[in-house]
Amino acid sequence: MRVRFWGVRGALATTEAGAQGVGGNTPCVEVRDERDNLVVLDAGIGLYWLGRSLLAGPHGRGKGAVTVLLSHTHWDHIQGFPFFVPAYIAGNQLSIWGGVTPHLEDILEGQLNPTYSPIVSLANMGATIRVNQLEEQEGDIVVGDLRIRHARLHNGSHDCVGYRLEEGGRSLCYMAEVQHEGGVLDPAAVELARGADILIHEAYFTDEELARGGREGLAGPSAPGSQGHSSYGQATELALAAGARRLYYFYHHPDRGDAEVEALVARQRARVAAAGAALELDAAREGTEVRI
Ligand SMILES: [Zn+2]
Repeated sequence: MRVRFWGVRGALATTEAGAQGVGGNTPCVEVRDERDNLVVLDAGIGLYWLGRSLLAGPHGRGKGAVTVLLSHTHWDHIQGFPFFVPAYIAGNQLSIWGGVTPHLEDILEGQLNPTYSPIVSLANMGATIRVNQLEEQEGDIVVGDLRIRHARLHNGSHDCVGYRLEEGGRSLCYMAEVQHEGGVLDPAAVELARGADILIHEAYFTDEELARGGREGLAGPSAPGSQGHSSYGQATELALAAGARRLYYFYHHPDRGDAEVEALVARQRARVAAAGAALELDAAREGTEVRI
């Protein structure tokens, strides 16, 4: 299995010069099985850049297939979708999955409503697009050699979906957003991440920001409904509790520059080393490719 980060930023894309080491695009992660079958985790702005990279291959000739797994449909997880160029090429096959929110197809259709978009309708995109509700699926989703499980996770006033992808005994777990209510790790999240080779877990807040109810400014304490997120420390705790092998801090706050992210990761590394744990840690950075 191969993994590549195309978008790692939470809430809002950023072009700040001091944040481009980590990257400014909203969530999108490419996953390939050993036969090159493609699964995409979330459709944030990073999806535009992934789409461009696909044009040199079968997706540029109308012979490509893509499975998109959405964690939920907040803007930052779907805003790249209308800009995914392979979706406009006839012959390509898109399969989109999501849950928690009913009427997923209506939501994606609504995003293209002429009030918001000149595309008007999914039917105008060209590729064959199927939208599927996870609730209607029995058992795992299978894409090529990937078996995909999912779990419903707490996310503030709404829930969202976490995914686990497995191939030949290797596993990747993706939690773009999750709130550990009252500081107690979400048991569904711990279970989903159990023994994962790689865990991608949000770290929108520092532990201090979470303790005081958020970060000042965007989605800060004054904004109702701004919660639904977790912290660096909680991501580490969950990875340790689940026995994951490597953790990537993901969904970086749009105000957070590279230097601050690196310092926060270093602090977590020191904590894990002091505990004598073998967990590997890093920040998710756009352009990073990992082989599992
Ligand atoms: Zn959200």
